[in-house]
Amino acid sequence: LMLGQQVFASKAPVPVYKDKKALVESRVEDLLKRMTLDEKILQLNQQTVGDNNNPNNNGYQKPTFPAGIGSLIYFSSDPAFRNTVQKRAMEETRLGIPILFGYDVIHGFRTVYPISLAQGCSFNPELVREACTVAAKETKLSGIDWTFSPMIDVARDPRWGRVSEGYGEDPYTNGVFGVASVKGYQGKNLSDQYSIAACLKHYIGYSMSEGGRDYHYSEVSPQTLWDTFMVPYEAGVKAGAATLMSGFNDISGVPASANPYTLTEVLKNRWKHDGFVVSDWGSVEQLMAQGVAKDRKEAGLKAFMSGVEMDMVDDIYGQNLKQLIAEKKVPVAKINDAVRRILRVKFRLGLFDNPYTTIVDQRYLQPESKAVAEKLATESMVLLKNKDHALPLTGNVKQIALIGPLAKDQEDMLGNWAAHGDAKDAETVLDGFEKEFAGKAKINYAKGSEIDGTDESNFADAVAAAQKSDVIVVCLGEKKGWSGENTSRSNISLPAIQEKLVAELKKTGKPIIVVLANGRPLELVRLEPMANAIVEMWQPGVVGGSALASIISGRVNPSGKLDITFPLTTGQIPTYYDMRQSARPNSGKYQDISTEPLYWFGHGLSYTDFAYGAINLSAPKIHKNQKLVATVEVANTGGVAGKETALWYISSHASSISRPMKELKHFEKKEIAAGAKYVYKFEIDPMRDLSFPDADGKRHLESGDFVIMAGNQKIKFELLD
Ligand code: BGC
Repeated sequence: LMLGQQVFASKAPVPVYKDKKALVESRVEDLLKRMTLDEKILQLNQQTVGDNNNPNNNGYQKPTFPAGIGSLIYFSSDPAFRNTVQKRAMEETRLGIPILFGYDVIHGFRTVYPISLAQGCSFNPELVREACTVAAKETKLSGIDWTFSPMIDVARDPRWGRVSEGYGEDPYTNGVFGVASVKGYQGKNLSDQYSIAACLKHYIGYSMSEGGRDYHYSEVSPQTLWDTFMVPYEAGVKAGAATLMSGFNDISGVPASANPYTLTEVLKNRWKHDGFVVSDWGSVEQLMAQGVAKDRKEAGLKAFMSGVEMDMVDDIYGQNLKQLIAEKKVPVAKINDAVRRILRVKFRLGLFDNPYTTIVDQRYLQPESKAVAEKLATESMVLLKNKDHALPLTGNVKQIALIGPLAKDQEDMLGNWAAHGDAKDAETVLDGFEKEFAGKAKINYAKGSEIDGTDESNFADAVAAAQKSDVIVVCLGEKKGWSGENTSRSNISLPAIQEKLVAELKKTGKPIIVVLANGRPLELVRLEPMANAIVEMWQPGVVGGSALASIISGRVNPSGKLDITFPLTTGQIPTYYDMRQSARPNSGKYQDISTEPLYWFGHGLSYTDFAYGAINLSAPKIHKNQKLVATVEVANTGGVAGKETALWYISSHASSISRPMKELKHFEKKEIAAGAKYVYKFEIDPMRDLSFPDADGKRHLESGDFVIMAGNQKIKFELLD
């Protein structure tokens, strides 16, 4: 009988949570039932692993985290090591719950593509989706399941170093690109072979850090929260983003990582997000610095009860939740809800069924991956100025002086947060020029100056190179470390040495083409008058040199438009386009400078001309339950094919509360052949495009007059009840 029983036991069905065919929700519930409180709490913690050089990161030698921890930030790119760590979780714990490995893959893993701020200027979300698909595959094959990206914090202050990590100053644009990257990372199904989970960050209001000083207090009124900051998050959540990260910042007195309104009321109750929220690095413990928690335990209580399910690196949940449950301050039901959310993401990723990474040889920098990076770099670059058609360089140009501290630079091409990018992979501008102009023009390179400093000793060589050339291309900008986290600048000028270099070159009388490599808008008030043309190259990634050279030669027609305004001077900040009306639009000006920024959001030139016809509407008036179709015919009246992005704005001037001067609601990029025309179309859904939120996010649709704009055209229409 004893024997018989054993035979029976060995034939017992696999538990539901291990059954690949069972529904995710059934698997989650089945597993949850089997877990002890300690096992549950472990799921809510994230530590770091993988960097042998940093003892705090738990190197290969002696991992100190518990085998059954919920998640790890993976500082390695070695899939075999991940498999070793994962094996501990799968085989040395009672239930074998796989670890979720996360990392910051912001603009490519090893095939680094342009920074996000540049990507937004492409106005080509499909291309961004493709680039994120490439990144997801390289990430997955390196042993990582989850990226802390996209950052969709709407930019408001270019002094803040992190404007480089998002898609500029417009809420809608951040939403569109946020969604594109979520789709690229997560694929059709999270469980697909090369899908990784996305993370919308930093929820929410972080970009309002006062004075652009990172980590500082952010004053965000409830109205602005909804008008501006919630817009891309709502879009990203609706697109299925698996996770969100709560910010470091304090929103008008309630820190983003202990904010029941944003984390629970809005995210979970209204938007029904069923994935989880991870805190930012140390943002639970920082509640003490923010003055809302007296100790780590209280910080943990506040963050957890507000709706932060996973504690990034603080180990506050690990050390305090059990006690907080015993004290009845944290209900077990709330723990179960948090664990459920984390398990759900793990099941959806297919981690239980495929916990290990397949090891392949060639996982980085594949030709097709680099092709996507090059295309995105090309479409991200913005022709800011082109006086008298200084660009493209024509066949008459036989010698090009290529000058400047960023002309032969690899490191800074990658930009900040370049994951496992290697500067050695990056093309320099010089590489790109040598290739592009081979057999056509001679490139005379001279560095001229460092990025910063006072050393003018190389000016003379640069001037000599300029003198023997027909045109000067000078590459200026910022170090990659000048943007990203904790990299604010009080003044967004170029270092004086770079402006001085250009002033010297100007004396040669040769045309000057300025190329900028930077991670934020710059103050160009002194430089702009010296330049015949300016190309904003941004930090373009591994194939930036070729991308830039193809634009300079005219082989590719530039098609980027700014996703962020360039103020004339730092003192003009803030300068975002969707400000509210002034009470006296014609006064309130600065006494010393113009109040107009140098280049507005949406600015970007082409080598051809696009002429917008009048906007046509399907009807002059519509009722709230009807749709309105707006069309505009655009003719390419120049001599070459080009891509034009029609930016569709809406404004309303008699609402119950004042609204932004105009708001971008739709855009479309299309290639138009020389001499050809294209009809751009925008189908207006009143509830989606004409309503506005109140200070609690409830949308109101009010009848009245609206204006719709595209290119240099506008037309009024009326919304009836
Ligand atoms: C940053 C996040 C990042 C996290 C993990 C934090 O310091 O604010 O953007 O995802 O670190 O590296």
